[in-house]
Amino acid sequence: CGGSWFESPSDGSLSVRRLLVQAYLDLFCLSQEKLRQVSGQLKKDMVRGLGKHTHHKAPVKMLPSFVRATPDGTEKGDFLALDLGGTNFRVLHVRVVEDLQKVLKMDSQICAIPKEMMLGTGQQLFDHIAKCLSDFLVSQDLKGQTLPLGFTFSFPCEQKEIDKSILIRWTKGFNCSGVEGEDVVKLLKEAIHRRGDFDIGSVAMVNDTVGTMMSCGYRDQSCEIGMIIGTGTNACYMEEMKNVKRVEGEDGRMCINTEWGGFGDDGSLRGIQTEFDLEVDKTSINPGVHTFEKMISGMYLGEIVRLLLLKLTEDKLLFEGQTSETLRTPESFLTKFISELSEEGKQPILSQLNLKWNEVDAHVVRLVCDTVSSRSARLCAAALAAIANHMRVSRKLDRLKTTVGVDGTVYRKHPNFSEELQETVRLLAPKCDITFLVSEDGSGKGAAMVTAVAQRLALQSRL
Ligand code: BGC
Ligand code: MG
Repeated sequence: CGGSWFESPSDGSLSVRRLLVQAYLDLFCLSQEKLRQVSGQLKKDMVRGLGKHTHHKAPVKMLPSFVRATPDGTEKGDFLALDLGGTNFRVLHVRVVEDLQKVLKMDSQICAIPKEMMLGTGQQLFDHIAKCLSDFLVSQDLKGQTLPLGFTFSFPCEQKEIDKSILIRWTKGFNCSGVEGEDVVKLLKEAIHRRGDFDIGSVAMVNDTVGTMMSCGYRDQSCEIGMIIGTGTNACYMEEMKNVKRVEGEDGRMCINTEWGGFGDDGSLRGIQTEFDLEVDKTSINPGVHTFEKMISGMYLGEIVRLLLLKLTEDKLLFEGQTSETLRTPESFLTKFISELSEEGKQPILSQLNLKWNEVDAHVVRLVCDTVSSRSARLCAAALAAIANHMRVSRKLDRLKTTVGVDGTVYRKHPNFSEELQETVRLLAPKCDITFLVSEDGSGKGAAMVTAVAQRLALQSRL
């Protein structure tokens, strides 16, 4: 595991240094056997999360999404979509065209959410969202219409219905007061009514994983898993209703939002967490929760690398033992540096961090980056294999053929990430044939799609 060491003429001091660096990197190298254990543990936790009497205490929440069907191609109409909880907050106008089997993004707008607002009151946040929506409707000349709205809200929610969704807890740096335990749809509608200058139609609440699955589902009807590896990480999949003990009904399927980011919150991953993972958790705004996410997603990878670089420098294995004020500053090593540093000629990033480096340092930094992102890819693969294996067994199939809709900056942008993930899934789920499809704007178009499918089902049940 890990990359190969600098091939230079044998030099005694270099090989000692090599061994010492490798000892740190080894902490991040997970053998196939270990990954199998992780996958097996997640499979058990998924069953706990689904159980009527076990889900309360389950670290992997397995939340019913009330999405009971993937698109059948007859959906149509105009929709609004909101996307909160990814890299940007966005407002969109989306058109689903039946004959063309197409989802068109008519227009969209990014609205910044200042950092203070992420930590302010819920009312401020929802007033801001309503204002962005209002401005957008004016700019699109849509203010008189009452369009249905798909709300991609990428946080763990206990969904009661498609339009009733209670925030369990904030993740990814958000921490607005007065929202946890509340119905997010109600908070949004209240904010819109406080303004009184426009209205919206029916609302469908969507986790980004679900939107991702649904947006790919329009192109590939065997898409029954959605996965995000971006600022945060998570996956959803279509589960047999008979296994969803918390929702009435035995027939058909329902999409389950696993919230796998919480895997390990009961200590089950303690054996593979490094001192660096523990430090990242301790200094985060939500210590003790979203253990798995903190080993994987973009919000944390840069910080893990930074802590590891600091440690190597303190041990005089890097930069001649000289750190810099910048490197000592939390969050100074951005996750995107990890992929940038694997390109030729990007080493000046190290100078921007005010570090004095030579070729060997640059090489070690690259090994650190590769090791940390490779662990992320392999852990995601173990988790995805758990889902695929579970689907195959519960559908009583010898082989499962399925498609995963994927999105997220880490998956999309980090070199080798998707290859390593796919290769590892093949090893860990040998009886599953999995196709990967990068979603086209799952949080925007996908949310509109969920709303459209919900409308279709409501219409059908009225007929
Ligand atoms: C949230 C999930 C979300 C994931 C990816 C996590 O922090 O809990 O609901 O799907 O991030 O955005
Ligand atoms: Mg998103």
